[in-house]
Amino acid sequence: MIRQKALITQLDTHHTFALGEKRVIKGAIGVSLRTRSGRLLPVAYTAAPIWDVQDRISGIVILLRDETKRRENEKALRDAYRRKDEFLATLAHELRNPLAPICNGIQLVKSCGDDPELTQEMLDMVDRQARHMVRLVDDLLDVSRITRGKLELRKCQVSIAEIVQNAVEETRPTIEQAQHELTIDVPDERVIVHADPNRLTQVLSNLLDNAAKYTPPGGRIRLSAAVCDEEVTIEVADNGRGIPSDKLESIFEMFMQVRSTIEGGHVGLGIGLTLVKQLIDMHGGTIEVHSEGIGQGSRFCVRLPAITPKQVKPSGEVGRGIDSMSATSRRVLVVDDHPDVRSVTARLVKLLGHIPFQASDGQEGIELAEQILPDVVLMDIGMPRMNGYEAAKHIRGTSWGCDMPLVAITGWGQEDDRRRTNAAGFNSHLVKPIDVGELKTLLQATPARHANGSVGGDVASTLRNGHEASLPEPS
Ligand code: ADP
Repeated sequence: MIRQKALITQLDTHHTFALGEKRVIKGAIGVSLRTRSGRLLPVAYTAAPIWDVQDRISGIVILLRDETKRRENEKALRDAYRRKDEFLATLAHELRNPLAPICNGIQLVKSCGDDPELTQEMLDMVDRQARHMVRLVDDLLDVSRITRGKLELRKCQVSIAEIVQNAVEETRPTIEQAQHELTIDVPDERVIVHADPNRLTQVLSNLLDNAAKYTPPGGRIRLSAAVCDEEVTIEVADNGRGIPSDKLESIFEMFMQVRSTIEGGHVGLGIGLTLVKQLIDMHGGTIEVHSEGIGQGSRFCVRLPAITPKQVKPSGEVGRGIDSMSATSRRVLVVDDHPDVRSVTARLVKLLGHIPFQASDGQEGIELAEQILPDVVLMDIGMPRMNGYEAAKHIRGTSWGCDMPLVAITGWGQEDDRRRTNAAGFNSHLVKPIDVGELKTLLQATPARHANGSVGGDVASTLRNGHEASLPEPS
């Protein structure tokens, strides 16, 4: 509030101006009032002449508005912009980091193409770096989803041993590259939790990845799990650079990073632990961090409710078991307008023991689907001529395609995108780049319509009349 006896410091000239110019004068930056207590109060003002009936100026109305709140908001906005700029700079840096060796590695392989050892080394490196980029992008999207409350868990009964195995597999290249010694200590008994297997794997791989990043080469990392009183405790401990005690509390906050001048190098985005904590919260668990200080290593301790043996469903329903999978080849139609994406997906399908066919847009996809009646269609969404939504809707409306498994494979992975593909008739939705393990599970879980997936022979009888003769060759 502006006090009655506040001292007006800069207004006189503006009144005179308003009267002299005979018009309303507004604003003026830097105008402030000093309150009785001596505090300077930023104000905005409006000075307007008052006209009498004879059209003469008979006075002036001055309006003063306390600007403190608005200026605070402006400052907060400027800070937010600065943080955003810093974040974008860090993001660009973090994306360039893996891109640089990928580009250089490709050049190297191109110029010394017949050196198998070098090629293998570069391929491993590209694999490592590409995975790293995928994780960065995934983390970014997940943080955005969590912030908007749009992240959903797909929970099932899953064994801790399976989660640990997947997380270790994901991070092994980083751990090995830094020559860390990894010890895994997981109980033999089957410890089951009700959780989203992918998200829990993400939690553990984030913690392992950090342990590998923030421990000088040749360090020790220990991943252990123990179950007690219907609660499972999973710990990731390292003997790395440690965390100063004044940072322990804020370490899970967004964009929080403990800068280290000694080590440099690893910058990261400062969102991994935020994600980890949010995901653990969503699972009804807790996470704690312990460190004796700089150079003393760190220990992250996750606690989750465990399922007691009598609550466990009969095996087969636990996780994504691979035992029940059949070895029959599936016919897989890959529809994508991007030639590289299409041919690499087709190659992957072949590598997994299935028979790929290729189409380059929705229209061609429909025609080929009708001809070959594939066991499953992997379809891109954004395509020329006819997009994936339209193609899926069309296939669903036919007698031959009403129950054909359709999988959307797209760069768009938000809940809204999933709802749209679902509404168009897709059975599932995978986000590019597809994970080979996920694709393998998906294809093996798809029932084979044809005896052995082969084209011709007994397959012909399952094809629509009139199409047997013109069956295209698989790609
Ligand atoms: P990022 O690793 O991308 O910076 P995180 O959210 O995963 O982001 O981690 C936040 C910060 O916490 C890191 O910048 C690092 O300073 C610190 N930190 C995380 N894990 C460890 C660890 N195992 N040892 C030491 N410091 C760590």
